[in-house]
Amino acid sequence: MAKWLQLLQLSPPLNTRNATKPVVDSRLLSTFQERALIPMLNRFLKFLSGTKSAKGPLIVDAREQGIDFNRLSRNAIKVVESLQKAGYAAYIVGGGVRDLLLKLKPKDFDVATNATPEQVKQVFRSAMIIGRRFRIVHVRFGREIIEVTTFRAHHEEASNAKEAKQSAQGVLLLDNVYGDIHSDAMRRDFSVNALYLDPLSGQIHDFTNGLQDLQNRVLRIIGEPTARYREDPVRMLRAVRFAAKLGFGLEAKTEAPIRSLANLLDHIPSARLFEEVLKLMLGGSATACLQLLRDYELLRHLFPGTAESLQGDDSFNHKFVDLVALNTDKRIRSDQRVTPAFIFGAFLWLPLVASMRKLQADSQVSSSDAMQRASAHIVGQQLARTALPKRFLIPMREIWALQLRLPKRDGDKAAQLIEHPRFRAAYDFLLLREDAGEDLAGLGNWWTQYQLQGEEERIAMVAKLQAPSAKRKPRRRRPKARSPAPDA
Ligand code: ATP
Ligand code: MG
Repeated sequence: MAKWLQLLQLSPPLNTRNATKPVVDSRLLSTFQERALIPMLNRFLKFLSGTKSAKGPLIVDAREQGIDFNRLSRNAIKVVESLQKAGYAAYIVGGGVRDLLLKLKPKDFDVATNATPEQVKQVFRSAMIIGRRFRIVHVRFGREIIEVTTFRAHHEEASNAKEAKQSAQGVLLLDNVYGDIHSDAMRRDFSVNALYLDPLSGQIHDFTNGLQDLQNRVLRIIGEPTARYREDPVRMLRAVRFAAKLGFGLEAKTEAPIRSLANLLDHIPSARLFEEVLKLMLGGSATACLQLLRDYELLRHLFPGTAESLQGDDSFNHKFVDLVALNTDKRIRSDQRVTPAFIFGAFLWLPLVASMRKLQADSQVSSSDAMQRASAHIVGQQLARTALPKRFLIPMREIWALQLRLPKRDGDKAAQLIEHPRFRAAYDFLLLREDAGEDLAGLGNWWTQYQLQGEEERIAMVAKLQAPSAKRKPRRRRPKARSPAPDA
């Protein structure tokens, strides 16, 4: 009898969300008859422990999976090591592990631990606890920040309202219920984002079949998709972003509810959506992201005006947004700067022009007045969805205003325009409009030449514009006015 008691005590605490499977070790049993009882006893233990989370992780050797340890952040390893030395469990998890397995360059490294934020702060004196909805610790090493999160658990396990809170729509407003590694894996978004690497033992712990999904190149949300999107609708945008970046397909169940739940994004704070838009557009896969955002009908919850402009079959509009995304990806690939002012300015250009045209058709207003009024309307509509900080909003409006000024080059206007701090962005914008099919009577080319010339040639170029012959030159027919006509 004592032996059976010993066996039961050896098994992990019952009715917990412990990751280890409660099993009877056959080495403790001596006789054949006793061994024959093992399956029955294991079934009994499984029953007692609750089957919900009794599944242990698949543990594999990270090197054998192709992880190159030289590409791991030294600082992330340092964080794991220090936490483990202090007696805590700690792993590298998330995009860092996923990207190394795919031989991609990780953007950053996140660490997950069973230490609470306060305990982490005790290990790293300079660490900062940040966030409210989701408290995390930033451990800074020069320019690199390692994000340390405490294992999370499901909300049923919250002991008070300071840890967990949901909105009327079921969105998680507070997500600070701590748990163990297994519950933490279940609370993550996609299986390929829930792989735990212990850099010291060199092992990967996989609770969600992430390794298999990685191999099959599918993005699969963990748990019941609708419930997980309701908890955090931003996961729909993350699905699009990862599918685009990794070139993965969305697993059927992960994909199915997105269109019908897209409107949940309207309840997300505009500042968070702005951050997500930047991640979608500046991650080097803007073209694929844009396509998926349109396919899954998510775009109209981020850029309502733009999505409306894309509803018709105006080929200029379609080509223009495609070129904006393509151009952004090219610039990111060649390490060129991309400003959100340009991207937002370009996406909102289509509804802006539509609104200006309407105003000008209804009443006799100048282009610049029409632009001012249309801009107030379009920017207002946009700010109800995504934030757009002033440092981007102001230059965006300047780029727009310059579109009306670039055609006016007489006198010393051209010389002044080229000195404008936003000239370069406005010129790039103008070229995009032309590339998308707008006929601006060679304006882009004129400005290209102008920039290449010395002072005297520039004066000659302007003089030529003013020559009577140039004035009488028959105007090239515009295609159905795509843009507001500059004031004469
Ligand atoms: P990236 O390459 O963009 O950094 P990432 O997967 O590391 O990709 P992060 O935003 O850095 O993404 O988040 C780190 C990890 O935290 C994710 O891999 C995922 O496991 C988890 N996570 C982040 N956001 C969510 C969310 N909204 N819901 C559930 N889990 C999330
Ligand atoms: Mg990350």
